[in-house]
Amino acid sequence: MSKVLLGSAERPLRVAIVGGGPSAFYTAENLFNRADVVADVHMIERLPTPHGLVRSGVAPDHQKIKNVTRVYERIADHPHFRFFGNITVGKHVAAAELAERYDAVIYAVGANADRRLGIPGEDLPGSWSATEFVGWYNGDPAYQDRDFDLSAVDSVVVIGVGNVSMDITRILVSETSRLEGTDITDEALDILRKRGVKHVRVIGRRGAAQVKFSPSEIREIGNLENVDLIIAPKQARLDALSKAWVDGHKDRNVRKNVDYLLGRAEAGPEGGHRQVRLTLLRSPIELIEKDGRLAGVRLEKNVLRLDEGPEPKPRGTGEFEDVPCQVLIRSVGYRGEPLPGVPFDRRRNVIPNDTGRVVDPETREVIPGLYAVGWIKRGPTGLVGANKADAIETVGALVEDLVGRPAPDDSTTVEDLADWLAENSPDVVNLERWRRIDAIEREQGEARGKVRHKFIRVQDMLDVSR
Ligand code: NAP
Repeated sequence: MSKVLLGSAERPLRVAIVGGGPSAFYTAENLFNRADVVADVHMIERLPTPHGLVRSGVAPDHQKIKNVTRVYERIADHPHFRFFGNITVGKHVAAAELAERYDAVIYAVGANADRRLGIPGEDLPGSWSATEFVGWYNGDPAYQDRDFDLSAVDSVVVIGVGNVSMDITRILVSETSRLEGTDITDEALDILRKRGVKHVRVIGRRGAAQVKFSPSEIREIGNLENVDLIIAPKQARLDALSKAWVDGHKDRNVRKNVDYLLGRAEAGPEGGHRQVRLTLLRSPIELIEKDGRLAGVRLEKNVLRLDEGPEPKPRGTGEFEDVPCQVLIRSVGYRGEPLPGVPFDRRRNVIPNDTGRVVDPETREVIPGLYAVGWIKRGPTGLVGANKADAIETVGALVEDLVGRPAPDDSTTVEDLADWLAENSPDVVNLERWRRIDAIEREQGEARGKVRHKFIRVQDMLDVSR
């Protein structure tokens, strides 16, 4: 057996990271930053563009958050980093082929689908998923053929009170002048210019203490020009259970949200020409149909109860109310999807793992050389920065497992691996090509007075970068 050690300068660790979003970049960064390992990193992404949800999820009017891509571009400058865009694992290369060729494969594929409500009428025309709507206004090529016409829409209901729900609500009611200089697509901006939307009703199934949005997000809506944020005082007040729960809660954001919502409830409307009404303690039970499309939603009033665990849970009271709307957006969280040939936990919709080491879903036995990071590892929660600590944990496990082990006697070089990947893509997009796409998008944006003018078709990205 060779005396050369894995992860050494003579035989750097060969790591494939599948996915190109924040968790993928923080994983690469951590591998490069560690003093005890030398690694070649091949990042394999199904789109020609990296940056995942920072590009296609973070709202266009949150450019400060999007600026984190500068950090990712610095990581990509590392001499041991290679980008392979436009390669889909499970289609162009198999998971087993990656596992065979690389010392470690790290899945950082995120959670791209939407969670379902599981109620009648969910698929009626006019019932939209947040994942698709956000992807659409952010230029994700997967959603550009969806019809999100808002011209004949006066009332929208948004189900869920997380940060995605806040992003969508803000986009729906913002003056378009707020969005013009951003990287929102021209198509989305055009639809917003023609929108009829006057009322957005945001529905939470629990109370003011259990909303999931960040205090800054609800405040941003409260501060929008020409928009009234309305909440009934009765709804902003806490029941005894929630009062005790808030008092025992360590997260200061919970108290901040409760205080802010109480303040808004007392202030009342200010005469804005669009309204956002927050309605709490209501669960959607059924989507109402008229003439083949959505006409409203039936809600059941809830009370909070402590069943199992410390979290107050909603319980239906058997009292119902119907809310008319022409569009309903389901913003109840993202959902991870299985990848062919990679273990999957169908109950939690994650890759089953133990601190990042992928395990067999039945036996919980560790599968050597396979790792997971980010939302596909822990579920779709946390802000972009939460992926840093997550990446540190996964890389820590990988280094403990592999670094310092004798290197296998293989004749393949890391260049051979790169060639193999490129040969298997219909048209591989390397870092240079991605940077050409990036530069053209910025240039075209500048010419239009925007930060970026995104390509919304994969073929266009491939054509301009060739
Ligand atoms: P989320 O934070 O998990 O919120 C999901 C919301 O949907 C919750 O209010 C949840 O209520 C509700 N919900 C779930 N199932 C439901 C059902 N069957 N009926 C009614 N309501 C239901 O998810 P998210 O908004 O998609 O955000 C995902 C992650 O991305 C979060 O960590 C978020 O902070 C982050 N993010 C951050 C930003 C930002 O920083 N600006 C922007 C976007 C996203 P319960 O609490 O009762 O389950």
